[in-house]
Amino acid sequence: MGYGSFQNCVRSDGFCIRITILTEKPETKMSSIPYASYICLLCGHIYHEAEGAPDDGIPPGTRWEDVPPNWTCPECGARKEDFEKMD
Ligand SMILES: [Zn+2]
Repeated sequence: MGYGSFQNCVRSDGFCIRITILTEKPETKMSSIPYASYICLLCGHIYHEAEGAPDDGIPPGTRWEDVPPNWTCPECGARKEDFEKMD
């Protein structure tokens, strides 16, 4: 009595080991949204959010909405509006 549910004597010599049961916290990870890919409707070039466009100074992991609006397709020069999200 009085020890609480988190403490138990598990050894015969009376040495007590405190056992704490950790409950898993459901982590709210903002970054858990899977990366998407966008395809250029004009030439078929694919922009992968996970890869970015390092040649254009866009680091890997850049979300499509974070790609500068003046960014154009490296293959054909199409604008962002000419890209479509891939499923
Ligand atoms: Zn293109």
